[in-house]
Amino acid sequence: MYPSYLNLSKGELNKKIEKLFKILENCQICPRKCHVNRLKRERGYCKLGDLPIVSAFHPHFGEESVLVDRHGSGTIFFTSCNLSCVYCQNYDISQLRIGEEISFERLAEIMIGLQNQGCHNINLVTPTSQIPQIVKALSLAIEKGLKLPLVYNTNAYDSVEVLKLLDDVIDIYMPDAKYSDNKIALKYSNAKGYFEIMKKALKEMHRQVGDLRFDENGIALRGLLVRHLVLPNNLTGSEKIFEFIAKEISRDTFLNVMNQYYPHYQAFKYPELSRRITDKEYQAVLKSAKKYGRKI
Ligand code: SF4
Repeated sequence: MYPSYLNLSKGELNKKIEKLFKILENCQICPRKCHVNRLKRERGYCKLGDLPIVSAFHPHFGEESVLVDRHGSGTIFFTSCNLSCVYCQNYDISQLRIGEEISFERLAEIMIGLQNQGCHNINLVTPTSQIPQIVKALSLAIEKGLKLPLVYNTNAYDSVEVLKLLDDVIDIYMPDAKYSDNKIALKYSNAKGYFEIMKKALKEMHRQVGDLRFDENGIALRGLLVRHLVLPNNLTGSEKIFEFIAKEISRDTFLNVMNQYYPHYQAFKYPELSRRITDKEYQAVLKSAKKYGRKI
């Protein structure tokens, strides 16, 4: 059956939910490992508690065409983020944390509502810190007839132990491979050890779902779709990321090299980040992606 979560028995899904909520008691849901009890509403780095917090939801037509097609990607923007990128374009959601706490039932209704609008998938934006809540809501949505694949749309600062619990739950992983230099990741996103954490996360994602596959209309069904946002002055260290993907994931990885960087939020405090990228910079990154056999 498709999507994969329909093959899990109720007992199997409940077991995953139980394990995920157990991790919240001494929170190690993401690599920050804050060790706070989120079930008692203690707050760690992400400032999230035990209930889902959502900023917006709607069919989205600005995502990759393989997710959008005619009816859009059913996107849910989860509030807060476990990174603090100084140039974040969604900083009101991720760092100012503008959003509404809702019940699990309401989150399930949102998923069903997006399905009823004809969306091709449920696109979970920044799901990492709220994945126990999302899977719990998923179990309620399945009872209400949800049958769309889930897209895990993440910054890739994810814990492998938690990702393992999402095997057979998520069909499409869409990580953003952001940096290959840990010092740069720490400076602009406060993400200690980002490169190693991202690499382990991508390997686990690919182990679960493989390369991206499509239906007869070219809509993504299952697999890994890697995004890479090019920053000015080669701050992303792109070539090292492409080399890793080619050598340790798959030369057939679907890769979207994005050129839409704009200096949002606090980026103007950093001269090296305070401009868009040039066409020359973008072409150089594309050239290095092609060198490693990337599909773009
Ligand atoms: S999910 Fe939040 S509280 Fe839990 S480890 Fe990550 S940042 Fe800390």
